[in-house]
Amino acid sequence: MKPRLVVMKFGGTSVGDASCIARTAKIIAGVAKENPCVVVVSAMSGVTNRLIEAAKTAEAGNVAGAEAILDALGQQHETALFNLLPDDQKRTRLRQRIEPVLAEGRRLCEGTALLRELTPRTLDAISSLGERLSAPLVAAAVDELGVYSEAVEATELVVTDAFHGGAEPQMELTREKSQARLGPLLEKGIVPIVTGFIGATAEGQLTTLGRGGSDYSATILGAALEADEVIIWTDVDGVLTADPRLVPEARTIPVISYREAAELAYFGAKVLHPKTLNPVIQAAIPVWIRNSFAPEKPGTKITPEGRSIGGGVKALTAIRDVTLISVGGPGIVGLPDVVGRTFSTTAEVRANVLLISQSSSQNDICFIVSTADAQRTVEALRKEFAHDLAHHKVEHITVDSKIAIVAVVGENMRGTPGIAGKTFNALGRESVNLIAIAQGSSECNISFVIEEKAVKAALLTTHREFGLEKAEKA
Ligand code: ASP
Ligand code: MG
Repeated sequence: MKPRLVVMKFGGTSVGDASCIARTAKIIAGVAKENPCVVVVSAMSGVTNRLIEAAKTAEAGNVAGAEAILDALGQQHETALFNLLPDDQKRTRLRQRIEPVLAEGRRLCEGTALLRELTPRTLDAISSLGERLSAPLVAAAVDELGVYSEAVEATELVVTDAFHGGAEPQMELTREKSQARLGPLLEKGIVPIVTGFIGATAEGQLTTLGRGGSDYSATILGAALEADEVIIWTDVDGVLTADPRLVPEARTIPVISYREAAELAYFGAKVLHPKTLNPVIQAAIPVWIRNSFAPEKPGTKITPEGRSIGGGVKALTAIRDVTLISVGGPGIVGLPDVVGRTFSTTAEVRANVLLISQSSSQNDICFIVSTADAQRTVEALRKEFAHDLAHHKVEHITVDSKIAIVAVVGENMRGTPGIAGKTFNALGRESVNLIAIAQGSSECNISFVIEEKAVKAALLTTHREFGLEKAEKA
């Protein structure tokens, strides 16, 4: 029988300092003794933000400021290195891998400052330095435990398009490269420690997969290597029924489907990058979310079919940084193209539309965008409808940013009548005012727009209404 191949990803907090890296290395060594495994790592927590800050500081012409940030990052990695490795020779060897990466960062910042221009390509080159620094550290820590390991740059594995800052993988090429590069290491029993977040175009130009993209790196490699499972090690116990800071009774969900987990990721549950599950769907590779700070806990298993529980509702989530825009007035009844023009406009300004709702009387079209997209969307709409506004065919374009979306997520809600009704009751009891409702056609999600200040009350009462605090057996 072919041994089970495991791809494991460790997030920024799991490699946050020497003691976290040591804990992570122990988990890796434990798994590597049983199975061949490939590890994907993020930058140490906070490092990517600091690198982006350095890039922006350089863009403003402040080389000294950018260099001060890089120096501080160098110090942070030196401290981790020093605490991880007792042996002087090993420390020197590791420094020889880390220093050129920092030097590259300095040169990139100098160039940026000189030109006062930060291209998406340069920003990718700078923001990816954190993973290139953390991977050798983790590899050294695993080596310390007597398990052979080697840091590998994902530019050698993950082939992407050239969309800097949010590149998409090209799976066929990625498959060829990853198998060719990692296969021989695995055969020799070496654990590859791969930089998450990073890829390269077919021509070799470095790209990044977007913020939080290391999760995505893990499933891309999982699919490319036909892994048996992917484990995302993070700092929470798994996928929870709600945000525990708002709902203290929230608990870990033992099994959840791809669709449910993707819906939760899309609707603001921060546990997974929204694209994470795309690469593994076809091959039906299970993905685990586990806590590197509490490895004894089972975590959440994400599978193709999940497991339906009685009520159909699995979890709740809320998104706050959103704005409701409505276009309407009685006059729009006679205008056949208002819907079309509204959404061509949102598409033109590349606004991410999260939810749409139109009342059957057609007096209003409301939709929700990220608050970051709101201003340019409204400006574009006012321009598009200028003529109609002047002639009172369209009476208003209004904006409300003091709102939030609460989404009730669960597969098989189709077969469970009364979910919307139960939610209304629960919200009514707490006097939470409903502004709009939308049910996705997947029936995997019913979303409610409410006032932002009512989010906590809405989550608490809905969580209780569906009995989500009751433990489900694993
Ligand atoms: N380090 C990158 C970020 O902070 C990628 C990741 O951690 O997933 O966005
Ligand atoms: Mg993350």
